[in-house]
Order: sequence, then structure tokens, then C-alpha cells
Amino acid sequence: MASRPAAISVAELRSELRAEVIGPDDAGYDQARTPFYGGFDLRPQAIVRPTDDAGVARVVTLARDNGLELAVRSGGHSLAGHSTSDGGIVLDLSAMRALDIDPEARTAWAQTGLTAGEYTTAAHAHGLATGFGDTASVGIGGITLSGGVGYLVRKHGLTIDSLLAAELVTADGELVTASEQEHPDLFWAIRGGGGNFGVATRFQLRLHELDGIVGGMLILPATADTVYGFMAEAEAAPEELSAIANVMPAPPMPFLPSEQHGRLVIFALLAYAGDVDAGTNAVAPFRALAEPVADMVRPMRYPELFQGPGDEGEFHPVAISRTMYVDSIDRSAAETIVEQLQASTAMMAATQLRMLGGAAARVPVDATAYAHRESRIMVNVAALVEAPEQAPVHEPWVVGLAEALRQDDPGAYVNFLGAEGKTQIPAAYPGPTWDRLVEIKRRYDPTNVFRLNQNIPPG
Ligand SMILES: Cc1cc2nc3c(=O)[nH]c(=O)nc-3n(C[C@H](O)[C@H](O)[C@H](O)COP(=O)(O)OP(=O)(O)OC[C@H]3O[C@@H](n4cnc5c(N)ncnc54)[C@H](O)[C@@H]3O)c2cc1C
Repeated sequence: MASRPAAISVAELRSELRAEVIGPDDAGYDQARTPFYGGFDLRPQAIVRPTDDAGVARVVTLARDNGLELAVRSGGHSLAGHSTSDGGIVLDLSAMRALDIDPEARTAWAQTGLTAGEYTTAAHAHGLATGFGDTASVGIGGITLSGGVGYLVRKHGLTIDSLLAAELVTADGELVTASEQEHPDLFWAIRGGGGNFGVATRFQLRLHELDGIVGGMLILPATADTVYGFMAEAEAAPEELSAIANVMPAPPMPFLPSEQHGRLVIFALLAYAGDVDAGTNAVAPFRALAEPVADMVRPMRYPELFQGPGDEGEFHPVAISRTMYVDSIDRSAAETIVEQLQASTAMMAATQLRMLGGAAARVPVDATAYAHRESRIMVNVAALVEAPEQAPVHEPWVVGLAEALRQDDPGAYVNFLGAEGKTQIPAAYPGPTWDRLVEIKRRYDPTNVFRLNQNIPPG
């Protein structure tokens, strides 16, 4: 269904919706229409910020009845530009950020306008945590609905493995609760199926005891040996330890000696969710791989991991990326990564490697719509450039490296799909998962109101 231009005026939207409505003539329009990533210079008819479920339902109904394209935005970090629209309505959940923590029951009801950082900081005040990703400003809406792979993935699983229930406004404007008991089919679908089934307004999430971690940044020189060794250690590590290795040129960070800037490093983020002595032992083999360029790993409060630089601000880089899973990074793959990164001419290029397994792998493959429980390592190859015109120059490099690293695992992680998602969706939702998602989509959104996403058409 193509979107129609201006079926309803901004003034009419204001009187209909009783929510903050930002139109093209308003001072905050440019800021409000701009998502995290650059390259999506689109002009929505309006950005609407409802404050409650009834307000969300009004926006959904109005967009549906007027044939307006509807973008649903939590934190605005979609790699595919799905949180903005040309001529449609952006339903921006940022005015819905209530968080109700029950420390006794170790559960939280969280409105989906919250960011991962806000949630994590509030939960930490009770010595509790739910795992999201590696970045504070990512919205809990987007990351949760497509899986959620972060610092606690091996210890506590994906974010969806801590999801107990969700409240959603469906395409017919109804508010429904999805859980193992209520609408279990919908609950299965939203644990991995993204924004295809409705607007999630609240999540009930399980909280885990987590007083502190041993973790932080460990920056090592990147060679084929250290990259290979890092992933071997990440696999051998106890599952309390989740590790993310970003192989990339050292950014010009003030704590790095200037002669290191631009040199290829493993910019690693480690998190050991357990006691300090065991954590110190678990990170020792990583420290021993080479003389660290910087070692900031220490006992810390969990939210401190989210306080890294480069997470916010007015800079909106254009990202070109490819995502996949592999079984292992052997020495030859490590060599390819190092060689290819040295050859990139992009403003920033990186290969990110995340060791999976642990609790995430113990959930049966068909228990949720995230079907990659058996995949061992998540790989993302990315180049960042300043302007969309530069993207075609660097895309062949990204695709070439991704293809060189590809093994037998055909899967893809929805949350890391960009515009190439259109062709990659079957890889994200293999066989039976796809069939079941389509069947559930037909029931909950037969006219594809929620289509501005990694879309599962009702057929
Ligand atoms: C810097 C950065 C770091 C990242 N790190 C990680 C990471 O460590 N682990 C990981 O798993 N992912 C990570 N991601 C990917 C991230 O999970 C996805 O981009 C995610 O979709 C972003 O969620 P959002 O709410 O911020 O984005 P948005 O752009 O607001 O939403 C993305 C899409 O999700 C859907 N959506 C969002 N909220 C709702 C809702 N309430 N109801 C219905 N649909 C909704 C919509 O379809 C929307 O188009 C990262 C992304 C970035 C940019």
C-alpha cells in the first residue's frame, strides 16, 4: 500500500489527537524528524507524541483510516530508517517513559519510550538489571521486539527471554495484553518479530540480581593472532562473561595516546556478571593476549558500561552494514578481517564480533520468533560515512568482507538489518518461523498497517 500525501492537515491532527503534534512549520520539526542514523532526510507530515495508550490507539486508527504511512519510534535507532516517513505520521513514544519496578517480585513494567540506559540506571538503584544491548540511547521498544543481544546475553539470554508480557495497540486500535497466558500466539510473535503486530506501549520484564560487574573497555592491538585469540577466549569463558569485540581503527579518544589513533585495535567491551574474584580471573586471558593499548576493565556498577562516548549528539553518520552469524573465527578469518579493515577508506570501518551461547542458546529454537539460538557468533561488518552520496563507494567493501567471512549459517539478526532487510528477511525468519509469523500477521494486521519495519506481509 503506497502512502498518500497530506490526507489530513496538521491542525486537524492536533484537534483529533490531543497529543503533542509537531508539523513542518514548527520550530522543533527538524530535530523531531531526524533519527539516529543519517541518510534518511525524510519529511513526515507530523511527529505525534501521545502520552497514554488511548492516545496511541487514536494515532493508529487515524493513520489507518486516512491511509497514512505510520512510523513507530521508540529510541529512533533503526538502521533501515524505519522510524521516520516521507509524508506519513511518526508515532513517537518518547513521552511515554514510566517505569514501575517491583523489587520484591523482581519485575518491571516499562513504557516503551524509555531508553535502555534510563531503564538500566533505574533498575540498578535496586541492584537489579535486565539485559538490552551495548548502547544507552537505544530504545527498549525496538531492541526488545526483535530480540536484544547485549552484555548479559550469555548469562541471562536475549532481552525477549526476560519479557513476561507486553501491552500492545493492534491495527484495529484495541489494547491487548500478550503473555504466555493471554494471546500466546501474539506473545510468541513479538519476541523477535519486530514491530509487525502492533504498537507495544508497555513491557513487563524480569529483573535479575546484579549488584556489579567486572567489565569495561579493553583495547588491544588487532592482529590476526589477537583477533583469533580473543574469540577463542570468549568461547572458552564462563557464561557469566559476555564479550563484544569491535575490530576497528582506534578512535581519537582522549584516554588513548595520540600515536595510537587510527591504528587497528580490538575495541572490546567485556562484562562479567558475577563476583569480583571470579570476574578478574575470567578477564585475565583477554588481558594476556597482548600488551593492552588501554585497559579500563575493573569492578564497576553495571550502568557505567553504558556511559561510553559517541552515543548521543548531533552527529548522524550514514551506516552501511551487513549482519550474519558464523560458527567460528579461525585464524584465516581473523587475518581477512585485519587485512580488509586496513584497506578500508571509510570515515570509520569496523567488524563487530559477539560470542553467543549460554542462556540464549538454552531456549528452544521454536519457542520465540527469534530462531537463531544455535548460532554461535554474531558478525556485523560496517562502514560509517558522512553523507549518503559516499555510501555506494564503500558498500562493495562491506559486502566483500561480509561475503569473505560467510560460513554455513544463513541466518540474520533483524535488529542489525538495514535497507538490505527487504531481501534478507527470509534469512532472519527461516522456514517454519516465517510461516507462523505470516499466519499471526494475517490475524492481527491483515491490511499491513504496521508495514514500515522489516516487514512480514500478511500475504
Ligand atoms: C548505536 C547502536 C547500537 C546498537 N547496539 C545493539 C546491541 O548491542 N544489541 C542489539 O540487539 N541491537 C543493537 N542495536 C540495534 C537496535 O536494537 C535496533 O536498531 C533497534 O531496532 C533500535 O530500537 P529503537 O527503539 O531505538 O529504534 P526505533 O527506530 O525507534 O525502532 C525501530 C523499529 O522497531 C519498531 N518499534 C520500535 N518501538 C516500537 C514499539 N513500541 N512498538 C512497535 N514497534 C516498535 C518499529 O518497527 C521501528 O521501525 C544498536 C543500534 C545502534 C544504532
